[in-house]
Amino acid sequence: MRPPRLNPLFATVRALKGVGPKVEGLLTKLVAPGHQNAHARVIDLLWHLPTGLIDRALTPNIATAKVGEIATLEVTVAEHRPGGGRRGGRAPYKVLVEDDSGGAFDLVYFNADPNYLKRLLPVGSRRLVSGQLEAYDGWLQMPHPDHVVAVDGAGNLPLLEPTYPLTTGLSNTVLRKAIGEALPQLPALPEWNDAEFLAKHAWPTFGEAITRLHEPKSDADLSLTSPARLRLAYDELLANQLALAVIRQRLTKRAGRSLVASGKFRKAILANLPFELTGAQMRSLAEIDADLKTPHRMLRLLQGDVGSGKTVVALLAMVNAVEAGVQTALMAPTELLARQHLQTISPLAESAGLRVAILTGRERGREREEILTALQDGKIDILIGTHALFQEAIAFRDLGLVVIDEQHRFGVHQRLALQAKGTGSGAELLVMTATPIPRTLLLTGYGDMDASRLDEKPPGRKPVATRTVPLDRLDEVVAGITRAVSQGSQVYWVCPLVAESEMLDLAAAEERYAALKKHFGAKVGLVHGRLAAKEKDRVMAAFAAGDIAVLVSTTVIEVGVDIPNASIMIIEHAERFGLAQLHQLRGRVGRGAKESSCVLLYRQPLSDTARERLNVLRRTEDGFVIAEEDLRLRGGGEVLGTRQSGMPAFRIARLPEDQTLLQTARDTARLILARDPELKGKNAEPLRLLLYLFERDDAIKLMRAG
Ligand code: ADP
Ligand code: MG
Repeated sequence: MRPPRLNPLFATVRALKGVGPKVEGLLTKLVAPGHQNAHARVIDLLWHLPTGLIDRALTPNIATAKVGEIATLEVTVAEHRPGGGRRGGRAPYKVLVEDDSGGAFDLVYFNADPNYLKRLLPVGSRRLVSGQLEAYDGWLQMPHPDHVVAVDGAGNLPLLEPTYPLTTGLSNTVLRKAIGEALPQLPALPEWNDAEFLAKHAWPTFGEAITRLHEPKSDADLSLTSPARLRLAYDELLANQLALAVIRQRLTKRAGRSLVASGKFRKAILANLPFELTGAQMRSLAEIDADLKTPHRMLRLLQGDVGSGKTVVALLAMVNAVEAGVQTALMAPTELLARQHLQTISPLAESAGLRVAILTGRERGREREEILTALQDGKIDILIGTHALFQEAIAFRDLGLVVIDEQHRFGVHQRLALQAKGTGSGAELLVMTATPIPRTLLLTGYGDMDASRLDEKPPGRKPVATRTVPLDRLDEVVAGITRAVSQGSQVYWVCPLVAESEMLDLAAAEERYAALKKHFGAKVGLVHGRLAAKEKDRVMAAFAAGDIAVLVSTTVIEVGVDIPNASIMIIEHAERFGLAQLHQLRGRVGRGAKESSCVLLYRQPLSDTARERLNVLRRTEDGFVIAEEDLRLRGGGEVLGTRQSGMPAFRIARLPEDQTLLQTARDTARLILARDPELKGKNAEPLRLLLYLFERDDAIKLMRAG
């Protein structure tokens, strides 16, 4: 349970004075978007930091004030000139103000209540006004001043005003007021960082840091290097690393076992492979073997670009485990991929005498019962399935190794769920991802795991010629693929993610399908996520057999599909995809003997960043390089599309900028757990608060579960 003293921070913003339903809605849109039925909470508001600072120090007088800048002036109200006349036209209401320097200008109001303005600015009164000075028709004016206060009420005018990212309908003033109400909700918290460490960096306390960021004294306070921001970024990274360290500790605590094999199955399979393993495959296998041999549990991530040959590594690892006497499971993210794995794996495994089965939502009734019984009796050595298998109570006789494929949809939370379920809880774990992850992000998302990299492609891969083409030259592209198809080529045509809604994606793909059908007739097929499994398989089989030449799809083909004869990849609205995703899609081609190409269709105009991003793809096919570039161009939070990647999003920390802090946080987290594995010692309470504060408290639940 969350410590009660943090409760005020996790209350909805409605608890704050002055925040009604309307403002709550706006705040939610601003600081907690994308969540269904979400309510902005006080803490969300506190994490929302200003990005600018307006200096409202008094400008000496009107004569010296600069056009185009924020001015704060002491003025006398000279005259009201209501705009629009009697019929209420569009002319604004103007209030002429002046000062002793001989200067004068108009305060300009559109759609304002005249009575309100008369009360605010009585003729002859002295006022402090602050806002942007502009020139209009050779005359000075200040449209909608930010502040108007009586001279003796100067205390109400902020001398330094932080400005926040806003949303339509929400003003900086209203947001600041809400944040002003939120700040006092911060309880006094005990320090979780080492006193010496804090002193060395001259960092403030947590409470001081948050307050300083919302009440900055200078631009320096808002910079990436301000001690206040660094402190909070560090705290956030420490919470992240501590949670991962707890997960690692829990997952490895239940002693695995030593799986030792002579390699006889492996040898049999290698003899049947039509190729030699690459150096990277052999290196990764050696790392896996070493893990399996130790009595500790393996927790290893196998990173390898599309086509780098992860499947065979997984298979060779599994057969050694089987030889050592246990069962193994391979989980794929989709049904399609599970079936493809079955096709690759079963002939090889069966030639070595191993028993392979598949279990997905499609195996039902008696067939399913038989598989379940065989599993329980230990008559299946390798079970291939989808993630859904984890959701069920499936009993193995002795599950010793779990391989999870294409894990970028399978985040820390799912790893925790996997552990909690007990399915495979004693099993060694190998996770494979086709999304190369930049080194810094690897630490924040997978800091609990060891990592192997397949950074070498199998020989004989031809480079994929990549071009960017504006959508208005679609006709040329269609003409080009018509020629290629007449010479026996096969084409993937990927339609983009139009919206959050699958229905809309589908509509776009169906439209393209209909248009291409006019050119290619029965040689064009359509596959998407809504298709019944049987139908999907039928279309994919027809494409694999060459009966379909052009396969239109939504991004369902993104992961894993292997059809070597397909040599052309068209990606529509490429500018809407993430770089990693484009790279992965492109990896579907260039697998066969043919020269391959990839056309990135984009809609004009393209922003500079978008252009640069597409150019990265033209320049290189190295997934690790692309991932680092993507991080540089887009910033950590967005690189992998947090929601689908399972990579954690940070409120304050920024990567790669904060990577030094990250390293320190990682070392500290490990040290903390080494000293106090249960987080029960006398210094543990503050650290638990930290985990709750940054909502990394899954780790605490895990500790309780034992
Ligand atoms: P991914 O890493 O994307 O899962 P796969 O395991 O599907 O890659 O391998 C892609 C293709 O490369 C498969 O057809 C596989 O048989 C082939 N392959 C794997 N390793 C090698 C190798 N060392 N030499 C040649 N081809 C290989
Ligand atoms: Mg694969």
